[in-house]
Amino acid sequence: MKVERFRIEPGSRVDWSEHDPEATPGCASKAAAAAPLARNLERLFELQEMLYAQGERALLIVLQGMDTSGKDGVIEHVMGAFNPQGVQITPFKVPTPDELAHDFLWRVHKATPGRGMVGIFNRSHYEDVLVVRVARLAPKAVWSKRYAHINAFEKLLADSGVAIVKLFLHISPEEQVKRLIERRDTPGKQWKFSPGDLEVRTQWSAYMEAYADALERCSTAWAPWYVVPANKKWYRNLVVSEILVDTLSRLDLAYPPPPENIATFEIPPAG
Ligand code: AMP
Ligand code: MG
Repeated sequence: MKVERFRIEPGSRVDWSEHDPEATPGCASKAAAAAPLARNLERLFELQEMLYAQGERALLIVLQGMDTSGKDGVIEHVMGAFNPQGVQITPFKVPTPDELAHDFLWRVHKATPGRGMVGIFNRSHYEDVLVVRVARLAPKAVWSKRYAHINAFEKLLADSGVAIVKLFLHISPEEQVKRLIERRDTPGKQWKFSPGDLEVRTQWSAYMEAYADALERCSTAWAPWYVVPANKKWYRNLVVSEILVDTLSRLDLAYPPPPENIATFEIPPAG
């Protein structure tokens, strides 16, 4: 599977009519996805082990998508392949008063992964040009400057050794309504049902416009955006795993060299 087909090339337009959330190019069924997904998960574990052992680079995964798009799902089913010791997951919620008293990247910068680590953002600084824009939580004069702030911030991270991959989990409104009904009516899922999500749903097209702008302006060579068709959970998981394997395998990861003459060390009896 070629991951480039999902990447937004820097400077290109995002036209939602060209992105079908229902599509499953390159894989026809859930059954056909099982083996390549399992292979990718194994590979992700190995690559992350090297990232951690080497302790030079970091990986930042940014997850965005409308409510029910599967952000929690990919953390469970794809990022679950990683050794938890090397992973740091940060969900971004409505900012606290302390967070609001600072610039919008203050809380984000603190959550970035250190060398050797994988950082996962469940939502991110992009909320500050999405919900903030659509719900008019700040004036245009404020949010419109943020695209440039974001690009500069992500460049700083990239220059400091952080590989960045940004995933937009793309579902259709028809798929969302099914998932919301399931949430509403299934006892084990009701805890995720949030009446506020219903209001957001009524502003679907405004959100898609805000997403298109964010992806167009902030898909860069150092921090590309990918649009992942996410109506089919099995396909979404496969594509996310492919993109992560692709990203990690370009990092020139290697285990650090062992101590010199390692084979000559005798293991002494315990004292
Ligand atoms: P959830 O992802 O379901 O836990 O919901 C988190 C909520 O926090 C979502 O409704 C987000 O839109 C909201 N949120 C996250 N970041 C921000 C932000 N910077 N400003 C306002 N709301 C935010
Ligand atoms: Mg929610």
